[in-house]
Amino acid sequence: MWISAKLLYVIPILFLLSLFGSPFFDSETIPLPLPKLHGKFLHITDFHPDPHYVSNVTARSRCHEHFKSTKKPKHMKRGISGPWGAPATVCDSPMSLIDATFEWLEKNWKNKLDFIVWTGDNARHDNDDIIPRTPEEMFRLNRMITEKFLETFGDPQLRSRKKAPHFIPIVPSIGNNDIHPNNIVLPGPNDLLTTLHDIWYPFIPQKQHKTFLKGGYFYTEVIPGKLIVVSINTLYFYKANTAVNGCKAKDQPGTIHLRWLNDVLRMANKRGLKVYLTEREGLNISQEDQGAVETKVYNIDKYMNKLLKHYRKIPLTREVEKEYAVININPSVIPTFFPALRIFDYNITELANEDHEVNSTKKSKKDSPSQVNTFLTPLGYTQYFINLTHANLYPNITPEYIIEYTTWNEYHMNDLTVPSWIQLARRIVNRGFRSSLWKKFQEHLMVGTRSLIRQKNKRSYRNSDSDDRVKGPEDYIVSELSF
Ligand SMILES: [Zn+2]
Repeated sequence: MWISAKLLYVIPILFLLSLFGSPFFDSETIPLPLPKLHGKFLHITDFHPDPHYVSNVTARSRCHEHFKSTKKPKHMKRGISGPWGAPATVCDSPMSLIDATFEWLEKNWKNKLDFIVWTGDNARHDNDDIIPRTPEEMFRLNRMITEKFLETFGDPQLRSRKKAPHFIPIVPSIGNNDIHPNNIVLPGPNDLLTTLHDIWYPFIPQKQHKTFLKGGYFYTEVIPGKLIVVSINTLYFYKANTAVNGCKAKDQPGTIHLRWLNDVLRMANKRGLKVYLTEREGLNISQEDQGAVETKVYNIDKYMNKLLKHYRKIPLTREVEKEYAVININPSVIPTFFPALRIFDYNITELANEDHEVNSTKKSKKDSPSQVNTFLTPLGYTQYFINLTHANLYPNITPEYIIEYTTWNEYHMNDLTVPSWIQLARRIVNRGFRSSLWKKFQEHLMVGTRSLIRQKNKRSYRNSDSDDRVKGPEDYIVSELSF
């Protein structure tokens, strides 16, 4: 699988865009009138609200006032917590940052988005023995974030939890920090999935409640008759989830999940629906493991090797390129770097006669929105961020997200199709890893915190390519699985 160059080195949350299908209607389906489309959706992830966050204490304490040892990289233990968060540290998000995020979303994006992809981790990390995170607290924080989505994107006049939703489609997926104990989910139905189901009830479409109770996954037809977003539960594929065993044995929940996914894709293909897949973590199904699945934690060297390997392997014809898929990993709200989110633009120009073309399966792959710029192709994204170093100077002024970069301006990409990503990767390789393009790319991977992290590492960081050098920020990807 082609891993797009955009992806690495941010918290490993996946937003996998994969588009299947060919455009023809199932005769049993009555086409619904299309909602007015804005051509934009939000991807947001990893809020990690921490009600125990204290301002003006050391990051080493996890912003909890008392000293706590941790194996995290040095730079993450340095710094003082500010009123809006502690950038590039081990600390979770203060409630002030969560509130500021939703205030900004309401002010700038209410009624301007078509749907929302939200990939989990709605509780603080359970990383402080002195204040252990109880399941009650974890669910309470999950409920709090859910309420905020409903308040921000719902119509307060019409809101009623158990009735038809009066907000844009919001598609959550379960994070490894949304469950207790961390990383462990048994096959459903179970208490955990039942509680999450109760919290996410408004987001789960009718007829899919049973599926969710059984496996924690579901899909939403975000544009009726056109596009579905599938929420995959990658927890059944985690090696860290010792309660299950990959997806080889027939009765394993991972196997059942993949079978369900296959059915959904087949249904979508039959109905001419396109599909976006969203999930927490990238899956790594290797031949050697024979069906066992592990999640990937990227580091830059591994990635570069992969990139170069792929680069050499890819001839110039599109025939080969179409084997690849693009995975977009979103930056997080939690200030592992600076808090960030993405607004995606996607193509809403539908060809007038496209709906009625029957038996067009032959053209499906070549003309799919992941390969060519067509209806529902992601066109680009704008990454917004808060510079917390600056924001923390003004405790009384609620910070706003501002544009960090766009894929149009910074990478000159016309769209986010697979060929466009490959083109970008080629440009990077051709210009070399000392080029300004690659430097810019690395800056973006760290959401603008690169110089801050370097500063914090001043004494220990040396910019050298030798293997025995002291590790620098580029060597670390913050794996939350280790918490
Ligand atoms: Zn997280």
